Amino acid sequence: MVEQLKIAVVGGGIGGLAAANVMVQHGHDVHVFEQASRLGEVGAGVLITPNSVRLLARMGLREQFERLGGRIQEGSSYRRMDGSVVGPIKIGDTSGEYGVFGMHRADLLGMLADQLPASAVHAGHRCVGFEQTADAARLDFENGERFEADVVVAADGIHSRLRQEVVDPTPPVFSGMLAYRGLVPADRLPGWRNDVHLVWMGEGKHFMVFPVRGGELLNFVGFIPSEHPAEESWSGRGDVNVLAQSFAGWDPLVTQLIDQVEDPFWWGLFDREPLDRWTSGRLALLGDAAHAMLPHLGQGANQAIEDGVALSALLTQADTASVSETLVRYESVRRPRAVKVQLGARNNGRRYDSQYEDLAQRDAEIADAATFRSWLYDYDVEKELATA
Ligand code: FAD
Repeated sequence: MVEQLKIAVVGGGIGGLAAANVMVQHGHDVHVFEQASRLGEVGAGVLITPNSVRLLARMGLREQFERLGGRIQEGSSYRRMDGSVVGPIKIGDTSGEYGVFGMHRADLLGMLADQLPASAVHAGHRCVGFEQTADAARLDFENGERFEADVVVAADGIHSRLRQEVVDPTPPVFSGMLAYRGLVPADRLPGWRNDVHLVWMGEGKHFMVFPVRGGELLNFVGFIPSEHPAEESWSGRGDVNVLAQSFAGWDPLVTQLIDQVEDPFWWGLFDREPLDRWTSGRLALLGDAAHAMLPHLGQGANQAIEDGVALSALLTQADTASVSETLVRYESVRRPRAVKVQLGARNNGRRYDSQYEDLAQRDAEIADAATFRSWLYDYDVEKELATA
């Protein structure tokens, strides 16, 4: 029988909420602490791929996915900046059962939050301190509250406060790129297919579009170089004129879409070097706190969901006394795969931004991407744990 553990999850983003969902379903006493006064997300999309779609389906979210997501269909393709097609984009796993979905981030977060008991979510709790003994871990919050738990999951993002309890602090690595992104109503673009994922690759820049909300909205992301990353706040409202100038002269499909953009957001794109360890005693890092990666494989959220399912499955075999060794096992299962994806995302960014002397070589690698995508998409973390 599963011993009920008291689990504190710090961070109510996609990773923290996905982990909390599975942990609640496994019967644990779970508390999510989010610094913001309410759970929320910016108006942008995220691609959810088969490796986590199958996990979310098992959490009971399949119907919501089909309703709120936009399933990506055949005809999705990589293109050069002039629109000429380089190759197809893979749209599902090998079995064909699980597809790729464009989701509005707020819809995904809402789906995950709605399944949790209201008493499990504590907004307005910014974690500022952590201590542990052999028997328990304790969190301190800015509002003066304290919480004791058997396990602490640090799902507090790329700027994780808790990571310093596991490894020495290091700064995030700026990629030299900004991402402009936002949503455009599909009915403003007659003639556009609102069920495909398209990626245009130019020199030092790329642009992508995929549908969310069943194709009602098109999510776009324009990736452009920048020498000035280090604003104190590195995400905010972007200037649509900068976006338009950056992609002037590209495929008319791109420029027509940008003509419809009113209010984009922008992000400085950072990742981190792979960490040597993810756990310390009763504390485990998860999601961007463990493996912040560039978005060029569309995997940050997907890997975070895999982390949460793996950690939860392993904790079903733990008791209060064996938490630390269980967390070490979690790290050994998850770290090799997440690091491969983390480094792979950097490489894929170089492909998308055409950083090749010979574009034929880049195009050959893009055409070959299906092999890597199959490795990524066919993976079932629960199956791996069951057979290990
Ligand atoms: P976050 O989403 O950052 O959540 C962390 C949470 O912790 C936040 O709610 C924060 O408020 C809270 N928090 C932080 N500090 C504290 C504290 N001290 N106390 C309490 N709470 C705290 N991924 C994909 O899988 N597919 C994609 O298509 C994709 N596209 C992307 C496009 C762009 C432009 C970018 C920038 C990223 C993209 N990603 C994508 C990556 C993905 O967004 C992240 O990897 C993912 O959101 C990480 O989830 P997380 O829960 O680990 O962290």
